[in-house]
Amino acid sequence: MRVRHKPWAKEKIAQYPQYVIPNPQDYAGKWGELFGNDHPLHIEVGTGKGQFIAEMARVHPKINYIGIELQQSVIVTALDKVLETDVPNVKLLHTDGADLRDFFAQGDVDRVYLNFSDPWPKNRHEKRRLTHESFLKIYEDILVDEGEIHFKTDNRGLFEYSLVSFSHYGMKLNGVWLDLHNSDYEGNIMTEYEEKFTAKGHPIYRCEVQYTK
Ligand code: SAM
Repeated sequence: MRVRHKPWAKEKIAQYPQYVIPNPQDYAGKWGELFGNDHPLHIEVGTGKGQFIAEMARVHPKINYIGIELQQSVIVTALDKVLETDVPNVKLLHTDGADLRDFFAQGDVDRVYLNFSDPWPKNRHEKRRLTHESFLKIYEDILVDEGEIHFKTDNRGLFEYSLVSFSHYGMKLNGVWLDLHNSDYEGNIMTEYEEKFTAKGHPIYRCEVQYTK
């Protein structure tokens, strides 16, 4: 996502350490202490402007959510969304998904969401795709046994690539939707990109995959 540089973002983020966690390494293995409960933890890697994660937290108060975003100028908008939603079960991390093992211990996370991940269509950028096997290994290392990834995108090439990547990794495909908005799937929460591409008439692809022992 290309965004305008926001020089004030760093300062604003620092003003809300209760929402954008400045010391996530301190919570590895004990995220329940931060949330004050032992509810399941679901994370979204590449959370963007935060609409999905904030709305999921509002709709599912018995689940804890963390949105993870690389870009400071983007996560500052997610912070606004979290402030506006004003629920206790959503936090944000300003970090690279490649570093998740520094912040989460094995079994800390119950589910990973990937929504409209950057497609990186050139072969030489394959390793940056959030469904590349190196990322699947990272998610496996922080998820519970038989944890799940829920993935949606409008990008057919990325969807095809990801299904093969999940399959080569030995994951189980529990559900697939080739046109999510014209399906019987219930409870979909739209992301910003989903709204944008749906308005352009793109079908939305979705799948649920699960690690196997
Ligand atoms: N999920 C949002 C949505 O559906 O509206 C945002 C989609 S946007 C295309 C992808 C986002 O993922 C960008 O904000 C980008 O900065 C973030 N991102 C890309 N690679 C990442 C990584 N390795 N770790 C964390 N965030 C990443």
